[in-house]
Amino acid sequence: MSSDSNYDLVVVGCGGAGLSAAVSYAEAAKANGREANIAVLERAAEPDRGGSTRWTMAGMYVDQNFKLNPRFVGWMQEVSKGLADLDYCLTFESEVPNTGKFLRDHGVEFMVIEDTFEGEPQVYNMPNGGGHSIVNHLADSLAEHPGAKIHYETEAVRLSISDEGRVNGVVVRGPDGLLKTMHGDAVVLACGGFEGNYEMLTQYCGKDAVDLRVLAPGTQYNKGDGIRMATEIGAATSGQFDGMHAELVDIRTDRADPVLYGHNWTIVVNGEAKRFYDEGAKNMGDSFELIAYEVWANQNQQAFFITDQFIFDQPELTARFDTDIPPVKADTIRDLANQLGLDPDALEATVNEFNASANDNEFDPKRYDGKSTSGIEPPKSNWAFPVNHPPYYGYPVAAAICFTYGGLKTDTEARVLSKGGKPIPGLYAAGELVGLYYHEYKGGTSVLKACTFGRIAGAHAEANAAVTVTAR
Ligand SMILES: Cc1cc2nc3c(=O)[nH]c(=O)nc-3n(C[C@H](O)[C@H](O)[C@H](O)COP(=O)(O)OP(=O)(O)OC[C@H]3O[C@@H](n4cnc5c(N)ncnc54)[C@H](O)[C@@H]3O)c2cc1C
Repeated sequence: MSSDSNYDLVVVGCGGAGLSAAVSYAEAAKANGREANIAVLERAAEPDRGGSTRWTMAGMYVDQNFKLNPRFVGWMQEVSKGLADLDYCLTFESEVPNTGKFLRDHGVEFMVIEDTFEGEPQVYNMPNGGGHSIVNHLADSLAEHPGAKIHYETEAVRLSISDEGRVNGVVVRGPDGLLKTMHGDAVVLACGGFEGNYEMLTQYCGKDAVDLRVLAPGTQYNKGDGIRMATEIGAATSGQFDGMHAELVDIRTDRADPVLYGHNWTIVVNGEAKRFYDEGAKNMGDSFELIAYEVWANQNQQAFFITDQFIFDQPELTARFDTDIPPVKADTIRDLANQLGLDPDALEATVNEFNASANDNEFDPKRYDGKSTSGIEPPKSNWAFPVNHPPYYGYPVAAAICFTYGGLKTDTEARVLSKGGKPIPGLYAAGELVGLYYHEYKGGTSVLKACTFGRIAGAHAEANAAVTVTAR
Protein backbone atom coordinates (compact mmCIF):
# COMPACT_ATOMS: atom_id res chain seq x y z
CA MET A 1 0.00 0.00 0.00
CA SER A 2 1.41 3.38 -0.92
CA SER A 3 1.55 6.34 1.42
CA ASP A 4 0.68 9.90 0.56
CA SER A 5 2.23 13.04 1.96
CA ASN A 6 1.35 14.31 5.39
CA TYR A 7 -1.68 16.51 5.83
CA ASP A 8 -2.58 18.79 8.68
CA LEU A 9 -6.16 17.68 8.30
CA VAL A 10 -7.97 14.91 6.45
CA VAL A 11 -11.73 15.44 6.16
CA VAL A 12 -13.95 12.53 5.12
CA GLY A 13 -16.98 13.95 3.28
CA CYS A 14 -17.68 16.95 1.10
CA GLY A 15 -21.12 18.04 2.35
CA GLY A 16 -22.02 20.89 4.70
CA ALA A 17 -20.17 19.39 7.66
CA GLY A 18 -16.95 18.43 5.85
CA LEU A 19 -16.57 21.65 3.92
CA SER A 20 -17.31 23.78 7.01
CA ALA A 21 -14.57 21.89 8.85
CA ALA A 22 -12.04 22.26 6.04
CA VAL A 23 -12.72 25.97 5.49
CA SER A 24 -12.67 26.88 9.16
CA TYR A 25 -9.37 24.99 9.64
CA ALA A 26 -7.78 26.63 6.58
CA GLU A 27 -8.81 30.12 7.66
CA ALA A 28 -7.74 29.69 11.28
CA ALA A 29 -4.33 28.43 10.11
CA LYS A 30 -3.97 31.36 7.74
CA ALA A 31 -4.83 33.75 10.57
CA ASN A 32 -1.99 32.07 12.48
CA GLY A 33 0.38 32.70 9.60
CA ARG A 34 0.49 29.25 8.00
CA GLU A 35 -0.98 27.67 4.91
CA ALA A 36 -2.60 24.38 5.93
CA ASN A 37 -2.33 21.13 4.00
CA ILE A 38 -5.88 19.75 3.84
CA ALA A 39 -7.37 16.78 2.01
CA VAL A 40 -11.15 16.53 1.67
CA LEU A 41 -12.29 13.07 0.55
CA GLU A 42 -15.39 12.72 -1.60
CA ARG A 43 -16.72 9.31 -2.65
CA ALA A 44 -18.64 10.82 -5.58
CA ALA A 45 -17.27 12.25 -8.82
CA GLU A 46 -17.02 16.04 -8.92
CA PRO A 47 -20.38 16.70 -10.64
CA ASP A 48 -22.16 14.70 -7.90
CA ARG A 49 -20.24 16.09 -4.94
CA GLY A 50 -21.90 17.37 -1.81
CA GLY A 51 -23.90 14.43 -0.44
CA SER A 52 -27.37 15.23 0.86
CA THR A 53 -26.42 18.87 1.48
CA ARG A 54 -26.25 19.43 -2.24
CA TRP A 55 -29.89 18.33 -2.77
CA THR A 56 -31.71 19.95 0.11
CA MET A 57 -33.52 23.28 0.10
CA ALA A 58 -31.83 23.55 3.51
CA GLY A 59 -34.66 25.03 5.54
CA MET A 60 -33.20 26.27 8.84
CA TYR A 61 -35.15 26.60 12.09
CA VAL A 62 -33.88 30.12 12.77
CA ASP A 63 -35.32 33.63 12.85
CA GLN A 64 -34.36 36.70 10.79
CA ASN A 65 -31.31 37.24 13.04
CA PHE A 66 -30.19 33.65 12.59
CA LYS A 67 -31.13 32.70 16.13
CA LEU A 68 -32.23 29.11 16.62
CA ASN A 69 -35.92 28.83 17.52
CA PRO A 70 -35.92 29.01 21.34
CA ARG A 71 -38.25 26.01 21.50
CA PHE A 72 -35.64 23.65 20.09
CA VAL A 73 -33.75 22.65 23.23
CA GLY A 74 -36.87 22.01 25.32
CA TRP A 75 -38.52 20.15 22.45
CA MET A 76 -35.46 17.89 22.07
CA GLN A 77 -35.48 17.06 25.76
CA GLU A 78 -39.20 16.34 25.68
CA VAL A 79 -39.44 14.14 22.57
CA SER A 80 -36.22 12.27 23.34
CA LYS A 81 -37.43 11.68 26.91
CA GLY A 82 -34.20 13.18 28.17
CA LEU A 83 -31.94 11.04 25.97
CA ALA A 84 -30.69 13.82 23.67
CA ASP A 85 -27.38 15.29 24.84
CA LEU A 86 -28.39 18.55 26.54
CA ASP A 87 -24.89 20.10 26.44
CA TYR A 88 -24.67 19.40 22.72
CA CYS A 89 -28.10 20.99 22.15
CA LEU A 90 -27.16 24.08 24.20
CA THR A 91 -23.85 24.50 22.35
CA PHE A 92 -25.72 24.12 19.09
CA GLU A 93 -28.18 26.84 20.14
CA SER A 94 -25.44 29.28 21.18
CA GLU A 95 -23.29 28.62 18.07
CA VAL A 96 -26.01 28.85 15.41
CA PRO A 97 -25.69 32.67 14.96
CA ASN A 98 -21.95 32.20 14.30
CA THR A 99 -22.83 29.60 11.66
CA GLY A 100 -25.13 32.13 9.99
CA LYS A 101 -22.28 34.64 9.91
CA PHE A 102 -19.83 32.00 8.66
CA LEU A 103 -22.09 31.00 5.77
CA ARG A 104 -22.92 34.61 4.86
CA ASP A 105 -19.23 35.58 5.03
CA HIS A 106 -18.59 32.87 2.44
CA GLY A 107 -21.18 34.18 0.04
CA VAL A 108 -24.29 32.17 0.94
CA GLU A 109 -27.37 34.40 0.70
CA PHE A 110 -30.51 33.66 2.65
CA MET A 111 -34.21 34.28 2.23
CA VAL A 112 -36.61 34.34 5.15
CA ILE A 113 -39.79 32.25 4.97
CA GLU A 114 -42.41 33.51 7.38
CA ASP A 115 -45.64 31.78 8.24
CA THR A 116 -47.87 31.68 11.29
CA PHE A 117 -49.38 28.77 13.13
CA GLU A 118 -51.53 29.10 16.24
CA GLY A 119 -50.83 32.85 16.01
CA GLU A 120 -47.09 32.28 16.45
CA PRO A 121 -44.67 33.24 13.70
CA GLN A 122 -42.98 30.18 12.20
CA VAL A 123 -39.79 31.56 10.71
CA TYR A 124 -37.34 29.56 8.65
CA ASN A 125 -34.29 30.74 6.72
CA MET A 126 -33.30 29.09 3.50
CA PRO A 127 -30.21 29.71 1.36
CA ASN A 128 -30.96 31.04 -2.12
CA GLY A 129 -30.17 27.98 -4.21
CA GLY A 130 -30.54 25.65 -1.21
CA GLY A 131 -27.76 23.38 0.06
CA HIS A 132 -26.14 23.41 -3.37
CA SER A 133 -25.22 27.03 -2.74
CA ILE A 134 -23.59 26.06 0.59
CA VAL A 135 -21.53 23.32 -1.10
CA ASN A 136 -20.44 25.54 -3.98
CA HIS A 137 -19.58 28.62 -1.92
CA LEU A 138 -17.62 26.67 0.68
CA ALA A 139 -15.79 24.64 -2.00
CA ASP A 140 -14.91 27.90 -3.81
CA SER A 141 -13.61 29.38 -0.54
CA LEU A 142 -11.52 26.27 0.08
CA ALA A 143 -10.04 26.52 -3.41
CA GLU A 144 -8.52 29.87 -2.42
CA HIS A 145 -6.16 27.97 -0.09
CA PRO A 146 -3.34 26.45 -2.17
CA GLY A 147 -2.70 23.67 0.36
CA ALA A 148 -6.29 22.39 0.31
CA LYS A 149 -7.72 19.96 -2.21
CA ILE A 150 -10.89 17.94 -2.68
CA HIS A 151 -10.05 14.36 -3.77
CA TYR A 152 -12.98 13.03 -5.80
CA GLU A 153 -13.88 9.36 -6.25
CA THR A 154 -11.79 8.71 -3.17
CA GLU A 155 -13.47 6.78 -0.40
CA ALA A 156 -12.33 6.33 3.16
CA VAL A 157 -11.96 2.66 4.06
CA ARG A 158 -10.51 2.66 7.58
CA LEU A 159 -8.76 4.86 10.09
CA SER A 160 -5.03 4.69 10.60
CA ILE A 161 -3.96 4.80 14.25
CA SER A 162 -0.65 4.96 16.07
CA ASP A 163 0.38 2.36 18.64
CA GLU A 164 -0.86 4.68 21.40
CA GLY A 165 -4.27 4.96 19.76
CA ARG A 166 -3.95 8.43 18.18
CA VAL A 167 -5.76 8.71 14.86
CA ASN A 168 -3.12 9.71 12.33
CA GLY A 169 -4.74 9.30 8.95
CA VAL A 170 -7.15 7.46 6.73
CA VAL A 171 -6.72 4.48 4.45
CA VAL A 172 -8.51 5.37 1.24
CA ARG A 173 -9.41 3.70 -2.02
CA GLY A 174 -8.74 6.12 -4.86
CA PRO A 175 -10.04 6.47 -8.42
CA ASP A 176 -7.56 3.76 -9.53
CA GLY A 177 -9.16 1.28 -7.11
CA LEU A 178 -5.99 0.97 -5.05
CA LEU A 179 -5.52 1.55 -1.35
CA LYS A 180 -3.21 4.18 0.08
CA THR A 181 -2.81 5.94 3.40
CA MET A 182 -3.33 9.67 3.69
CA HIS A 183 -1.65 10.68 6.92
CA GLY A 184 -3.14 13.54 8.86
CA ASP A 185 -2.51 15.15 12.23
CA ALA A 186 -6.27 15.26 12.65
CA VAL A 187 -9.20 13.57 10.92
CA VAL A 188 -12.76 14.90 10.71
CA LEU A 189 -15.41 12.32 9.89
CA ALA A 190 -18.26 14.07 8.05
CA CYS A 191 -19.54 11.36 5.73
CA GLY A 192 -23.21 11.14 6.66
CA GLY A 193 -25.33 8.45 8.27
CA PHE A 194 -26.13 4.96 6.92
CA GLU A 195 -29.18 5.94 4.85
CA GLY A 196 -27.45 4.70 1.69
CA ASN A 197 -26.54 1.30 3.13
CA TYR A 198 -29.37 -1.26 3.04
CA GLU A 199 -27.34 -3.79 4.98
CA MET A 200 -26.97 -1.43 7.94
CA LEU A 201 -30.56 -0.21 7.54
CA THR A 202 -31.74 -3.79 7.83
CA GLN A 203 -29.44 -4.46 10.75
CA TYR A 204 -30.55 -1.42 12.75
CA CYS A 205 -33.95 -0.29 11.44
CA GLY A 206 -35.35 -3.71 10.70
CA LYS A 207 -37.33 -5.73 8.23
CA ASP A 208 -38.22 -4.38 4.78
CA ALA A 209 -35.58 -1.64 4.86
CA VAL A 210 -34.88 -2.59 1.23
CA ASP A 211 -38.27 -1.11 0.31
CA LEU A 212 -37.25 2.38 1.41
CA ARG A 213 -36.60 4.80 -1.40
CA VAL A 214 -33.69 7.22 -1.15
CA LEU A 215 -34.86 10.83 -1.03
CA ALA A 216 -32.20 12.30 -3.33
CA PRO A 217 -29.24 11.02 -5.39
CA GLY A 218 -26.58 12.39 -2.99
CA THR A 219 -28.04 10.43 -0.09
CA GLN A 220 -26.95 7.08 -1.58
CA TYR A 221 -23.25 7.85 -1.00
CA ASN A 222 -23.71 7.83 2.77
CA LYS A 223 -23.08 4.23 3.73
CA GLY A 224 -22.31 4.48 7.41
CA ASP A 225 -18.55 4.32 6.85
CA GLY A 226 -17.68 6.99 9.40
CA ILE A 227 -19.72 5.23 12.08
CA ARG A 228 -18.17 1.86 11.20
CA MET A 229 -14.58 3.15 11.02
CA ALA A 230 -14.80 4.94 14.38
CA THR A 231 -16.60 2.17 16.24
CA GLU A 232 -13.93 -0.25 14.97
CA ILE A 233 -11.42 1.66 17.09
CA GLY A 234 -13.66 1.92 20.15
CA ALA A 235 -15.78 5.05 19.61
CA ALA A 236 -19.00 5.48 21.56
CA THR A 237 -22.36 5.91 19.85
CA SER A 238 -25.37 8.10 20.40
CA GLY A 239 -28.82 8.69 18.87
CA GLN A 240 -31.51 6.13 18.17
CA PHE A 241 -30.11 3.45 15.86
CA ASP A 242 -33.50 2.20 14.67
CA GLY A 243 -34.68 5.78 14.11
CA MET A 244 -34.74 7.60 10.81
CA HIS A 245 -36.08 10.71 9.16
CA ALA A 246 -38.26 9.72 6.21
CA GLU A 247 -40.73 11.66 4.08
CA LEU A 248 -43.67 10.75 1.83
CA VAL A 249 -42.89 11.11 -1.87
CA ASP A 250 -44.81 10.76 -5.11
CA ILE A 251 -44.00 7.25 -6.37
CA ARG A 252 -44.66 8.16 -10.03
CA THR A 253 -41.61 10.36 -10.57
CA ASP A 254 -37.83 9.95 -10.59
CA ARG A 255 -37.28 13.60 -9.70
CA ALA A 256 -35.16 14.17 -6.60
CA ASP A 257 -37.09 15.08 -3.45
CA PRO A 258 -40.70 14.87 -4.81
CA VAL A 259 -42.11 15.38 -1.32
CA LEU A 260 -45.84 15.52 -0.65
CA TYR A 261 -46.07 17.44 2.62
CA GLY A 262 -49.78 18.15 2.78
CA HIS A 263 -51.15 15.00 4.41
CA ASN A 264 -52.99 17.26 6.89
CA TRP A 265 -55.26 18.52 4.12
CA THR A 266 -56.25 15.07 2.85
CA ILE A 267 -57.34 11.71 4.07
CA VAL A 268 -54.61 9.13 3.73
CA VAL A 269 -55.56 5.54 2.92
CA ASN A 270 -53.54 2.35 2.58
CA GLY A 271 -53.59 -0.28 -0.18
CA GLU A 272 -56.92 -1.56 1.16
CA ALA A 273 -58.39 1.94 0.84
CA LYS A 274 -58.64 2.23 4.64
CA ARG A 275 -57.49 5.15 6.77
CA PHE A 276 -54.79 4.16 9.26
CA TYR A 277 -53.48 7.41 10.79
CA ASP A 278 -54.87 10.55 12.44
CA GLU A 279 -53.87 13.01 9.70
CA GLY A 280 -54.81 15.98 11.90
CA ALA A 281 -53.18 15.02 15.21
CA LYS A 282 -50.16 17.32 14.73
CA ASN A 283 -49.29 20.07 12.30
CA MET A 284 -47.37 19.26 9.15
CA GLY A 285 -43.89 20.07 10.46
CA ASP A 286 -44.36 17.85 13.50
CA SER A 287 -45.90 14.86 11.73
CA PHE A 288 -44.57 14.50 8.18
CA GLU A 289 -41.84 12.09 9.23
CA LEU A 290 -44.10 10.15 11.61
CA ILE A 291 -46.67 9.30 8.97
CA ALA A 292 -43.90 8.40 6.50
CA TYR A 293 -42.39 5.99 9.02
CA GLU A 294 -45.82 4.43 9.59
CA VAL A 295 -46.33 3.92 5.83
CA TRP A 296 -43.00 2.11 5.61
CA ALA A 297 -43.17 0.15 8.87
CA ASN A 298 -46.81 -0.94 8.92
CA GLN A 299 -48.58 -0.17 5.64
CA ASN A 300 -46.47 -2.16 3.18
CA GLN A 301 -44.99 1.07 1.71
CA GLN A 302 -48.28 1.90 0.05
CA ALA A 303 -50.50 4.90 0.73
CA PHE A 304 -52.65 7.43 -1.12
CA PHE A 305 -53.59 11.04 -0.42
CA ILE A 306 -57.29 11.56 -1.25
CA THR A 307 -58.70 15.08 -1.47
CA ASP A 308 -60.97 17.33 -3.51
CA GLN A 309 -61.50 20.67 -5.23
CA PHE A 310 -62.06 22.49 -1.91
CA ILE A 311 -58.37 21.97 -1.11
CA PHE A 312 -57.26 22.57 -4.70
CA ASP A 313 -58.93 25.99 -4.60
CA GLN A 314 -56.33 26.98 -1.95
CA PRO A 315 -52.96 27.25 -3.70
CA GLU A 316 -51.10 27.87 -0.43
CA LEU A 317 -52.16 24.34 0.60
CA THR A 318 -51.53 22.56 -2.71
CA ALA A 319 -48.08 24.19 -2.88
CA ARG A 320 -47.18 21.56 -0.28
CA PHE A 321 -47.60 18.82 -2.90
CA ASP A 322 -44.13 19.32 -4.33
CA THR A 323 -44.11 16.91 -7.28
CA ASP A 324 -43.66 17.41 -11.02
CA ILE A 325 -46.55 15.02 -11.88
CA PRO A 326 -50.16 16.31 -11.68
CA PRO A 327 -52.46 14.45 -9.29
CA VAL A 328 -54.79 11.72 -10.49
CA LYS A 329 -58.14 13.48 -11.05
CA ALA A 330 -61.69 12.08 -11.30
CA ASP A 331 -65.30 13.22 -11.08
CA THR A 332 -66.28 10.42 -8.70
CA ILE A 333 -64.58 8.64 -5.83
CA ARG A 334 -65.15 5.32 -7.63
CA ASP A 335 -63.35 6.54 -10.73
CA LEU A 336 -60.52 7.94 -8.59
CA ALA A 337 -60.19 4.53 -6.90
CA ASN A 338 -60.04 2.77 -10.27
CA GLN A 339 -57.32 5.08 -11.54
CA LEU A 340 -55.29 4.63 -8.34
CA GLY A 341 -55.68 0.83 -8.41
CA LEU A 342 -57.83 0.79 -5.26
CA ASP A 343 -61.07 -1.13 -4.62
CA PRO A 344 -63.85 1.39 -5.50
CA ASP A 345 -66.32 -0.05 -2.95
CA ALA A 346 -63.73 0.16 -0.20
CA LEU A 347 -62.64 3.73 -1.01
CA GLU A 348 -66.24 4.91 -1.31
CA ALA A 349 -67.07 3.34 2.06
CA THR A 350 -64.04 5.00 3.70
CA VAL A 351 -64.84 8.43 2.26
CA ASN A 352 -68.56 8.19 3.12
CA GLU A 353 -67.81 7.13 6.68
CA PHE A 354 -65.27 9.94 7.06
CA ASN A 355 -67.60 12.60 5.63
CA ALA A 356 -70.46 11.58 7.93
CA SER A 357 -68.25 11.79 11.02
CA ALA A 358 -66.85 15.34 10.62
CA ASN A 359 -68.18 18.16 12.81
CA ASP A 360 -69.22 21.65 11.61
CA ASN A 361 -66.27 23.66 12.95
CA GLU A 362 -64.73 26.11 10.53
CA PHE A 363 -61.73 24.81 8.58
CA ASP A 364 -58.62 26.84 9.41
CA PRO A 365 -55.20 25.59 8.28
CA LYS A 366 -53.45 28.25 10.41
CA ARG A 367 -54.36 26.67 13.75
CA TYR A 368 -55.57 23.47 15.36
CA ASP A 369 -59.16 24.15 14.28
CA GLY A 370 -60.89 21.34 16.17
CA LYS A 371 -62.67 20.38 12.96
CA SER A 372 -62.61 16.74 13.89
CA THR A 373 -64.36 13.45 13.41
CA SER A 374 -66.23 11.39 15.96
CA GLY A 375 -67.10 7.71 16.03
CA ILE A 376 -64.48 6.54 13.55
CA GLU A 377 -61.13 4.87 14.07
CA PRO A 378 -58.62 6.37 13.63
CA PRO A 379 -60.10 9.84 14.18
CA LYS A 380 -58.97 12.93 12.33
CA SER A 381 -58.45 15.47 15.11
CA ASN A 382 -58.22 18.66 13.04
CA TRP A 383 -58.83 19.83 9.47
CA ALA A 384 -61.44 17.10 8.89
CA PHE A 385 -63.10 18.77 5.94
CA PRO A 386 -65.48 16.35 4.18
CA VAL A 387 -64.15 15.04 0.88
CA ASN A 388 -67.30 15.85 -1.13
CA HIS A 389 -66.35 18.69 -3.50
CA PRO A 390 -65.65 17.10 -6.90
CA PRO A 391 -63.52 16.73 -8.83
CA TYR A 392 -61.47 14.47 -6.58
CA TYR A 393 -57.68 14.20 -6.50
CA GLY A 394 -55.28 11.46 -5.43
CA TYR A 395 -51.55 10.90 -5.12
CA PRO A 396 -49.86 7.50 -4.61
CA VAL A 397 -47.08 7.89 -2.03
CA ALA A 398 -44.38 5.88 -0.26
CA ALA A 399 -41.70 6.67 2.30
CA ALA A 400 -38.23 7.80 1.21
CA ILE A 401 -35.35 7.86 3.68
CA CYS A 402 -33.56 11.15 4.28
CA PHE A 403 -31.16 10.25 7.10
CA THR A 404 -30.63 7.93 10.04
CA TYR A 405 -30.62 9.06 13.69
CA GLY A 406 -27.94 6.77 15.11
CA GLY A 407 -24.30 7.84 15.01
CA LEU A 408 -21.14 8.69 16.88
CA LYS A 409 -20.94 10.34 20.26
CA THR A 410 -18.87 13.52 20.40
CA ASP A 411 -18.33 16.23 22.97
CA THR A 412 -19.35 19.83 22.32
CA GLU A 413 -16.01 20.46 20.58
CA ALA A 414 -16.83 17.74 18.07
CA ARG A 415 -14.18 15.35 19.41
CA VAL A 416 -15.20 11.71 19.06
CA LEU A 417 -15.49 10.06 22.45
CA SER A 418 -14.41 6.57 23.40
CA LYS A 419 -16.81 4.25 25.18
CA GLY A 420 -15.13 5.36 28.38
CA GLY A 421 -15.95 8.99 27.59
CA LYS A 422 -12.42 10.13 26.65
CA PRO A 423 -11.81 12.09 23.43
CA ILE A 424 -10.01 9.83 20.94
CA PRO A 425 -6.88 11.87 20.07
CA GLY A 426 -6.92 13.24 16.54
CA LEU A 427 -10.51 12.25 15.75
CA TYR A 428 -13.48 14.60 15.19
CA ALA A 429 -16.96 14.09 13.77
CA ALA A 430 -19.72 16.38 12.56
CA GLY A 431 -23.01 16.29 10.68
CA GLU A 432 -25.46 13.49 10.22
CA LEU A 433 -23.06 10.82 11.47
CA VAL A 434 -23.15 12.33 14.96
CA GLY A 435 -26.11 10.72 16.71
CA LEU A 436 -28.40 13.22 18.41
CA TYR A 437 -32.07 12.54 17.66
CA TYR A 438 -34.39 10.11 19.44
CA HIS A 439 -38.02 9.33 18.52
CA GLU A 440 -38.51 12.48 16.42
CA TYR A 441 -36.51 14.96 14.38
CA LYS A 442 -37.08 18.72 14.40
CA GLY A 443 -37.15 19.88 10.76
CA GLY A 444 -34.65 22.55 9.78
CA THR A 445 -31.88 21.49 12.16
CA SER A 446 -29.80 18.95 10.23
CA VAL A 447 -27.92 21.20 7.79
CA LEU A 448 -27.43 23.71 10.61
CA LYS A 449 -26.04 21.00 12.88
CA ALA A 450 -23.70 19.83 10.12
CA CYS A 451 -22.29 23.30 9.39
CA THR A 452 -22.14 24.31 13.06
CA PHE A 453 -20.20 21.31 14.36
CA GLY A 454 -18.14 21.05 11.17
CA ARG A 455 -17.01 24.60 11.81
CA ILE A 456 -16.29 23.81 15.47
CA ALA A 457 -14.33 20.65 14.55
CA GLY A 458 -12.12 22.51 12.07
CA ALA A 459 -11.44 25.37 14.48
CA HIS A 460 -10.66 23.03 17.38
CA ALA A 461 -8.36 20.82 15.32
CA GLU A 462 -6.44 23.89 14.14
CA ALA A 463 -6.18 25.36 17.64
CA ASN A 464 -4.87 22.02 18.86
CA ALA A 465 -2.34 21.91 16.03
CA ALA A 466 -1.22 25.46 16.83
CA VAL A 467 -0.64 24.47 20.48
CA THR A 468 1.36 21.42 19.36
CA VAL A 469 3.49 23.52 16.99
CA THR A 470 4.20 26.11 19.71
CA ALA A 471 5.16 23.40 22.19
CA ARG A 472 7.69 21.80 19.79
C1 LIG B 1 -33.89 16.09 -0.37
C2 LIG B 1 -33.44 16.45 1.03
C3 LIG B 1 -34.05 17.50 1.69
C4 LIG B 1 -33.60 17.85 2.97
N1 LIG B 1 -34.15 18.95 3.58
C5 LIG B 1 -33.57 19.44 4.69
C6 LIG B 1 -33.95 20.71 5.21
O1 LIG B 1 -34.79 21.43 4.63
N2 LIG B 1 -33.32 21.16 6.35
C7 LIG B 1 -32.36 20.43 6.98
O2 LIG B 1 -31.82 20.88 8.00
N3 LIG B 1 -31.98 19.22 6.50
C8 LIG B 1 -32.54 18.73 5.36
N4 LIG B 1 -32.11 17.53 4.85
C9 LIG B 1 -31.07 16.78 5.57
C10 LIG B 1 -29.71 17.43 5.35
O3 LIG B 1 -29.56 17.78 4.00
C11 LIG B 1 -28.57 16.54 5.76
O4 LIG B 1 -28.83 15.92 6.99
C12 LIG B 1 -27.26 17.33 5.89
O5 LIG B 1 -27.06 18.11 4.73
C13 LIG B 1 -26.12 16.38 6.14
O6 LIG B 1 -24.87 17.03 5.99
P1 LIG B 1 -23.54 16.18 6.16
O7 LIG B 1 -22.43 17.07 5.76
O8 LIG B 1 -23.51 15.54 7.49
O9 LIG B 1 -23.70 14.99 5.11
P2 LIG B 1 -23.76 15.05 3.52
O10 LIG B 1 -24.12 16.38 3.02
O11 LIG B 1 -24.62 13.92 3.08
O12 LIG B 1 -22.26 14.79 3.09
C14 LIG B 1 -21.65 13.54 3.28
C15 LIG B 1 -20.48 13.44 2.32
O13 LIG B 1 -19.69 12.31 2.62
C16 LIG B 1 -19.36 11.62 1.40
N5 LIG B 1 -19.02 10.25 1.78
C17 LIG B 1 -19.78 9.31 2.34
N6 LIG B 1 -19.04 8.22 2.64
C18 LIG B 1 -17.77 8.48 2.24
C19 LIG B 1 -16.54 7.76 2.29
N7 LIG B 1 -16.44 6.53 2.81
N8 LIG B 1 -15.43 8.36 1.81
C20 LIG B 1 -15.47 9.60 1.25
N9 LIG B 1 -16.62 10.33 1.20
C21 LIG B 1 -17.75 9.77 1.70
C22 LIG B 1 -20.58 11.81 0.56
O14 LIG B 1 -20.35 11.57 -0.80
C23 LIG B 1 -20.88 13.29 0.85
O15 LIG B 1 -20.04 14.13 0.11
C24 LIG B 1 -32.56 17.12 3.59
C25 LIG B 1 -31.95 16.06 2.92
C26 LIG B 1 -32.39 15.72 1.63
C27 LIG B 1 -31.71 14.58 0.93
